[in-house]
Amino acid sequence: MAHSIVTDVCEGVADCVDACPVACIHEGPKKNKKGTDWYWIDFDVCIDCGICLQVCPVEGAILPEEKPDLQKTPV
Ligand code: SF4
Ligand code: SF4
Repeated sequence: MAHSIVTDVCEGVADCVDACPVACIHEGPKKNKKGTDWYWIDFDVCIDCGICLQVCPVEGAILPEEKPDLQKTPV
């Protein structure tokens, strides 16, 4: 089970990117519905450590579950 970034809640602050110990958080293309940058978690690499959730300043942007319906993962 991986963590997820809710695409349309994320504000692209990117605190999570540097905090992730396995570098599995990547920038998404274009903007989200808020008009900000957004990031996504590679579910196959995430080790479910929860650090991203602790450092993210935006409430509800990261969920401690694998939610492919809420995180738009670029193909
Ligand atoms: S999930 Fe949180 S810390 Fe990561 S880019 Fe989005 S708003 Fe920033
Ligand atoms: S739970 Fe840990 S490994 Fe997974 S994205 Fe967040 S910081 Fe990275």
